[in-house]
Amino acid sequence: MATASFATPRVAPLAERQAALLSSSPASLEPAPAAPLLATPLSASPAARRSSPDSRFWNAALETQSRADWERLKLASLQAHLQHAYFGSPYYRAAWYAAGVHPSQLKTLDDLRRFPFINKKIVRDRQLAAPPLGDLCAVPERDIVYISASSGSTGVPTASPFTQQDFDDWIDYEARQFWSSGLRPEDRYAHSLNFSLFVGGPCVLGAQKLGALSIHAGTLPSERLLTVLRQFSVTAIWTTPSYAWYLGETAIKQGIDPARDLSVRRIFVAGEPGGSIPETRQRIEALWGASVYDYYGLSDIFGSCAGMCEEKNGLHWAEDHIHVEVLDPESGEPVAEGERGEMVLTTLKKSARPMIRFRTGDIVSVTTEPCACGRTSMRLLGVHGRLDDMLIIKGVNIFPSDVESIARKDKQLTGEYKLIVRRVAHLDELTVQIERVSADASVDAELAGRFAHHLKSVTGVSAKIEVLPPDTLPRETHKAKRVDDQRNNVWGK
Ligand SMILES: [Zn+2]
Repeated sequence: MATASFATPRVAPLAERQAALLSSSPASLEPAPAAPLLATPLSASPAARRSSPDSRFWNAALETQSRADWERLKLASLQAHLQHAYFGSPYYRAAWYAAGVHPSQLKTLDDLRRFPFINKKIVRDRQLAAPPLGDLCAVPERDIVYISASSGSTGVPTASPFTQQDFDDWIDYEARQFWSSGLRPEDRYAHSLNFSLFVGGPCVLGAQKLGALSIHAGTLPSERLLTVLRQFSVTAIWTTPSYAWYLGETAIKQGIDPARDLSVRRIFVAGEPGGSIPETRQRIEALWGASVYDYYGLSDIFGSCAGMCEEKNGLHWAEDHIHVEVLDPESGEPVAEGERGEMVLTTLKKSARPMIRFRTGDIVSVTTEPCACGRTSMRLLGVHGRLDDMLIIKGVNIFPSDVESIARKDKQLTGEYKLIVRRVAHLDELTVQIERVSADASVDAELAGRFAHHLKSVTGVSAKIEVLPPDTLPRETHKAKRVDDQRNNVWGK
């Protein structure tokens, strides 16, 4: 019973078609795309979109260019950006002078290794020394239109400033990232991240730029968020992996089956390693009947910097905005592609506050192999943890994410876990608390034995395993705190 209005392609007025023919760009000779199901979308402004709804790419020329073109683009951007930092920022000018380097010495991307590192402490110290925004800034304050702020462990908020151009670049990148994960103008999107000072908040504007109907949900209480998801038949949300899991469990407790009763089919997650742990992602996907896409972002640098395409094989990096080095944290030397190392980031365009060789403390691995989706940008294969989260137990490195993948694989476990490290008689002792799904305690010995065996084979570490009844461990709603390291706790708590 198809009616004409559903299937008729949009036909441009004659004058418009003649103008297109005269301008003779090959793209303008392609047939107009079929009209979307809703013939008059709410967000029909052509300026708001780069791509037609049936295009696979937001910016095909950029996203599918050769690796050699990526390298050329990055080098040209970096040369200009270092000059901008040198002339605009008193800090960089002094630090590079002291290190005996100058932007004019950068002839290849590898030359960047001659420039000194910065880190969170330097950013914080320079902000205190030259308040309110610090002398890493390379533009006058009147050119800055937005800051996000992150508090960090010392409680001193550090600001990340943006000029209008930086902000526009960021939002266009967000739209590109959402597009690569399959978000389209027909979607209804609930942005469920904190808006208060948090750089994740404005990412919602990327969904709006793409044309999706966007709901600024923020950190609504779970019951209200579930009501919103239901009332507006929301098709996509963005939250943390632990909150996606918590929200799904909350729904089930209220008699709502997320897979059957809700319309959410895409979940973007960020903020914790869980989104890149296949077992965690698959459990959230099964709970919601949805696809889960991991995103990575860092408030000091940009908004989100990388995200999964529909292949979900690593996270495509915002390579035109940020250059990545993966280094051995001890020696500072680059590790081989695919190996784990500390990620060091350099902005290529962000003019308000260039970040040149910022040590993130995140342990990652990357690849530049082409992706099956057709995009050629570098991909993060995983954020394996933070240097801060890395536990050294009897000389062996272990990340909470290693434990998580085991906890999420065993269907008789809820997937919740906690690591407790003590020093007993001068020896490290690791206890892992896990939760069984059933109320039946008779399976505990078997579950503990199986978990201990898997943990030992994956990490090489022996641990005491405590199996707890369901719903014992606290459900963290946003950033989950999974480690209690009591070794340096002089208060004996
Ligand atoms: Zn891809």
